[in-house]
Amino acid sequence: MNVLSLASITLEELQNLMKSCALPTFRAKQILDWRNKGILELDAMKNVPNQVKEVLQEHTQVQALKLVSKQKSNDGTRKYLFALQRENQSLKHIETVLIPEQERGTVCISSQAGCVLDCPFCHTGTQKFEGNLTAAEIVAQVLAVKADLLADPMDEDLHSQVTHIVYMGMGEPLANEIEVFKSLDLLMAEDYLHLSRRRITLSTSGLVPQIERLGKDSPVNLAISLHTAINEKRNTLVPINQKHDLNSLRKSLNTYPLAKSRHITLEYVMLKGINDSQEDLDALIRFVNPERERVNLIRFNTYPGSDFQGSATNVTDNFAKSLISKGIRATVRRSRGDDIMAACGQLKTAKSGK
Ligand code: SAH
Ligand code: SF4
Repeated sequence: MNVLSLASITLEELQNLMKSCALPTFRAKQILDWRNKGILELDAMKNVPNQVKEVLQEHTQVQALKLVSKQKSNDGTRKYLFALQRENQSLKHIETVLIPEQERGTVCISSQAGCVLDCPFCHTGTQKFEGNLTAAEIVAQVLAVKADLLADPMDEDLHSQVTHIVYMGMGEPLANEIEVFKSLDLLMAEDYLHLSRRRITLSTSGLVPQIERLGKDSPVNLAISLHTAINEKRNTLVPINQKHDLNSLRKSLNTYPLAKSRHITLEYVMLKGINDSQEDLDALIRFVNPERERVNLIRFNTYPGSDFQGSATNVTDNFAKSLISKGIRATVRRSRGDDIMAACGQLKTAKSGK
């Protein structure tokens, strides 16, 4: 798609468009002020004349996403289902999740429709792969959540702003490198969403060359879906390991640039009888570099048809305690929004199947 999208257009591109249509260039700034708040509906842009709106309609893709449905969890988490607005293509859907807390609002964004990497415990991996998202479609998820928070703010005890972004929705972000890197630039751009790199986290199953390029280009917080520190086991649990094994992953982690007092997060989903034995724990302890890395133990989120079961709570807690006793930072991730299937690995658009 080579269409200018309002979600990703720069001030300069928009000024050029205004000029080429013999319109005053100051309109570009007015339009982007709306866009940056999340407002992409032309009707809502009150200070923009109709003539300018017609030009936008004709020369840009105004809405990259269409909201199909929104679900609210008991804990405030919201899950959005969007349809991609692409011409001449079958309808594709993606999901985005907003996780509100007292002090922050985190948006979990998708980078692909589906995923080809087929980690056997992941619901997204069971979905048919339907393609990479464009940078505009990635950033438009954040805009849509901002607009939703303006229209439908959180209750008083929860934050009603987008403060943090995690690339932990559908897809493997580093398998869509070009568009994901562009989207990171847009999220961090001073005249756009202006989020600091410390507020953005990208989770990857371990595409080593891309991790290295991310470190050079946009060194945001890095999370790795480790899930086991035993190489042979990882070949089946996280199949990309067959291409980039734990040795090469280790090397890329050792050189990834870290912001001050930040750590790389090693995500470890606790699977009963699969990766939760003493041997698994010992291998994990040997793998982690406590100076630069911390472990996030994730409770397995089940979904219909899954062959896996989560570890018992006491097993997970003992894992955490043992790691901590070895001087390794370890936390157990609380699951958010699991009553609406919005938790990690539960994202799969209801409309498609394999
Ligand atoms: N593809 C990327 C990012 C999306 S998945 C990656 O794999 O890192 C976000 C996180 O959820 C990953 O750590 C993933 O391994 C984890 N996850 C996948 N399925 C899960 C499930 N059923 N329960 C809990 N976590 C899961
Ligand atoms: Fe893809 Fe990540 Fe799911 Fe693996 S865990 S199938 S890489 S989305």
